[in-house]
Amino acid sequence: MAKTYSIAIDGPAGAGKSTIAKALAKELGYHYVDTGAIYRTVAYFLDLLGISPKDVDGVERYIDELTVEITYDETGKQHMIMNGMDVSDEIRTQDISQKASLVSAHKVVRDVLLDMQRDVAKKHNVIMDGRDIGTVVLPNATVKIFLTASAEVRAQRRTAELLEKGQKAEYNQILKEIQQRDYQDTHRPIAPLKQASDAVLLDTSEMDIPTVLENMKRIIGEKIAL
Ligand code: C5P
Repeated sequence: MAKTYSIAIDGPAGAGKSTIAKALAKELGYHYVDTGAIYRTVAYFLDLLGISPKDVDGVERYIDELTVEITYDETGKQHMIMNGMDVSDEIRTQDISQKASLVSAHKVVRDVLLDMQRDVAKKHNVIMDGRDIGTVVLPNATVKIFLTASAEVRAQRRTAELLEKGQKAEYNQILKEIQQRDYQDTHRPIAPLKQASDAVLLDTSEMDIPTVLENMKRIIGEKIAL
């Protein structure tokens, strides 16, 4: 098999990982893998069954009944298929964001999803975003970037994004949820959110999207001929 390149982008919720990774993947012709969507699919599945994301026994009992597939449509958009059903839109609520963060702390969940993520990277050139891509999923990634911004800036961006879509958004509430997810994601014992020792840190608090993209391409260009 030909050698594949992998670009790992980790960072906290709302740092702009998916916007940037999607744009880069399109430009470079890479597969974009949003790994958060996989954890969201697990959370949604358990939620439908009425299993609390904190219920260790319940999660262990039902996880085997779930099959998750990642597919891509002709525009390159990633779709999440849960037991044969496309749940790509259903997993995007604030409620599922919180539940995904709790569900993702379980070892059994992380173990099941690990191979799936690695398999994609074996077959394709990928830009993969998440929390533990550079540290656990792809420790030998060609490029590793840790993308962050202050919690306040991330909450402002998320609020503006939701309002633009015509959805309800309250800055203080969103800031609280972001801080709660940051805490949960950085404090879990297994694969916590943290910068890999060989990742390049990019703080986007003061940057607009074109500036972030420019910086990302400069960092990637040091390892991969663009
Ligand atoms: O990136 P997104 O906000 O969709 O991720 C939802 C949740 O899934 C995160 O808060 C995190 O707890 C979990 N996650 C993870 N590891 C990843 C990607 C996401 O634990 N690689």
